[in-house]
Amino acid sequence: MIRTLPGHANCHHKHYGLSCATYEQMLQESGQRCEICGTAPQGNTSGKLFIDHENALGTWAVRGLLCHRCNSLNANRPGWNVTAPEGSDRYLANPWFHRRLAELGISADAPAEPPPGALVSDSLGRTWSYSRGSWHTKRSRIRGSAWADLVDQFGPIGLTITLPV
Ligand SMILES: [Zn+2]
Ligand SMILES: [Zn+2]
Repeated sequence: MIRTLPGHANCHHKHYGLSCATYEQMLQESGQRCEICGTAPQGNTSGKLFIDHENALGTWAVRGLLCHRCNSLNANRPGWNVTAPEGSDRYLANPWFHRRLAELGISADAPAEPPPGALVSDSLGRTWSYSRGSWHTKRSRIRGSAWADLVDQFGPIGLTITLPV
């Protein structure tokens, strides 16, 4: 979980496969307030909201935007014996990525690696293809298990696969 500014100082949201437009929409939908307790970021000690995601699925599975306190309390349960903040059950039952999956009409299953020759667009506007042993864009290349890395960052909501004809 990485700190974000209300705006886009470092565009940390891209680490979660969220484009600037998508992140901006999330900020607006949340009213730029913690989605559990309603605290505005200027009321927090850090002055920032945190992007909260479902660890078990990947960074793409963004649940919402939280204040420092709610983010910490949620992250620490159930391993730590802390009391969840009031409203967190409601929050966890309706995470952002569920709403996005429903909008797109797709399941949360990780997309299977497409065959060589397929083109894969990500939610940040880049196009990936596979050749010479790795997935790469025009500018960058990922070593090793690149498909798993793409799936972890972008998931089913952020990857569009075009199979070769
Ligand atoms: Zn941005
Ligand atoms: Zn909060």
